[in-house]
Amino acid sequence: MARSTLIVLLALKAIALTLAVFGQWWAAAIVYFVPDLWVLYHLFVPSGQGLCPVVTRFNTPRAEVWLTIDDGPDETDTPQILDLLDRFGAKATFFVIGERAKRCPKLIADIARRGHEIAHHTQTHPVGTFWCASPARLSRELDDAIDTLRPSGIRPRWFRPPVGIKHLLLPAALAARQLRCVGWSIRSGDVLVRSHERVVAHVLRKLRPGAIILMHEGPSLHPAVRVRAIALLLEALSGLGYRCVLPDPSQFR
Ligand SMILES: [Zn+2]
Repeated sequence: MARSTLIVLLALKAIALTLAVFGQWWAAAIVYFVPDLWVLYHLFVPSGQGLCPVVTRFNTPRAEVWLTIDDGPDETDTPQILDLLDRFGAKATFFVIGERAKRCPKLIADIARRGHEIAHHTQTHPVGTFWCASPARLSRELDDAIDTLRPSGIRPRWFRPPVGIKHLLLPAALAARQLRCVGWSIRSGDVLVRSHERVVAHVLRKLRPGAIILMHEGPSLHPAVRVRAIALLLEALSGLGYRCVLPDPSQFR
C-alpha cells in the first residue's frame, strides 16, 4: 500500500472517531468501515488497482494475445506444452512456483531455451495465506523463488500472486525486487471445469487484441482439461489469425 493511501485511511479513522465523540454514530460508522470495504475489494479482487498496480492487458494494433501458464513446471505437462507452442509458433510466459522449479531445473532451462519467458509465482504458492503473510514470509516467498531461478540464469521481471490475491505490502516488496504485478484479461477457468471445449469457448468469447490469457498446467487440472485445453486454444487462436506473443514493456500502460 502506498504511504499516501495509508495516511488517507488513517485520517478517515480519526475523523470517524471524532464524529463518534460528537454522537454522530451513523456517520462515524460509515466513515470508519467504508474504507475497509475499499481495501478488501482491492486486496481480494485480482483486477483491483487501488493497493497495487496490476497489468491486465497490453497495447497492440494487431491480433495478438499474451498466453500465460501458471503453477508449473510439471514433468508431465510442460514438455507437451512446449511441443504444442513450437507447433503453432506461439510464445508463452510460464509463471512458475519456486518449489517446483527447484525439483526440475532441466524444464526451466528448456522453457527458456525454446524462447519462452519464466515469471515469478511465489516459492510455495500459499493460496489461502498469501494476503495475510507476515512481512518476513512475504520476503521469503519472493526471494526464495528468485534464488531458485538464479542458477538457471533467469531473473524474472513479472510476478503474479496466487489466485491474484494481493498483500498490503506487495507494491513496495515488488518494487524493491524490480518485479511488476501481472493479472489477466481472461481467466480461462481451466481449474474449475472438466471440459477443454468449455474452457476454450469461454476464452474465445472474451478474446480481443492485447488480452492476457490465464491458463494452468499440472495435476490440479482435470485430466480432460490438462494440456488438452491449451492444445485446443492454440488451434483456435491460430484459426482466428491470433498470435501468442511476449509483449514488450513499452506495450503496457
Ligand atoms: Zn497459481
